[in-house]
Amino acid sequence: MTSANRRGLLIILSSPSGAGKSTLAKRLRAWDDSIVFSVSATTRTPRPGEVNGVDYHFVSQEEFKAIVRDGGMLEHAHVFGNFYGSPKAVVQDAIESGQDVLFDVDWQGAQQIRNSALGPHTLSIFLLPPSIIELRRRLESRGQDSAETIARRMQKSWDEISHWDGYDFVLVNDDLDATEERLKTIVSATRLRRLQQPELTDHVRNLQSEFDEIS
Ligand code: ADP
Ligand code: 5GP
Repeated sequence: MTSANRRGLLIILSSPSGAGKSTLAKRLRAWDDSIVFSVSATTRTPRPGEVNGVDYHFVSQEEFKAIVRDGGMLEHAHVFGNFYGSPKAVVQDAIESGQDVLFDVDWQGAQQIRNSALGPHTLSIFLLPPSIIELRRRLESRGQDSAETIARRMQKSWDEISHWDGYDFVLVNDDLDATEERLKTIVSATRLRRLQQPELTDHVRNLQSEFDEIS
């Protein structure tokens, strides 16, 4: 099936901070570069190495509020003291042209996307860490946040984990390669969902005409 004759998916990846969302999002896009990454807008300051317009659109609180006021966000939330939101613009065009859009959002964002008009086209996946000790080790090994920020993210991690059962799929991200394979399997299968294949209706109609002709 080519991307031209299917409808794209809104692929939502959530997890407590440090469980591996960004790493797996990168791997998924390396596997299929037609997947569009939804670049969120945020009021938080960039981490070392983060590029404006690539990792996030870094905006002021005033700019963020103006986008929300103008109805430009598909969803938005307050996380760790900052605002985060997914701009609407790229999503509709991408999915109608058969491209999947990947969202790295928290449980509040996932819930809002699922409840939006595009809800039937979502695929939501939650990543769990193998243990809390390992989650902290990963946050520390990333080397991008202060001890204070890491402590705050650890404190919030249970809040995020407690929403695990609202997702279509839940993966324990223990071995990275194995999680990547399971993620690709889930995406490949969900692309075949009936709703993602609008041309099936015509195909079945053609089968019916052919059936009527020969019977
Ligand atoms: P998130 O985007 O969920 O905050 P990251 O993708 O930044 O998390 O991952 C946090 C850290 O953990 C990174 O240094 C990353 O390389 C590492 N990591 C991710 N998945 C695994 C894994 N399965 N095993 C070991 N380390 C991992
Ligand atoms: P970070 O600051 O580590 O990049 O992200 C912190 C948290 O905000 C993560 O749980 C991430 O999934 C979430 N997040 C990032 N972008 C968005 C967004 O656009 N909307 C929502 N709701 N959450 C987001």
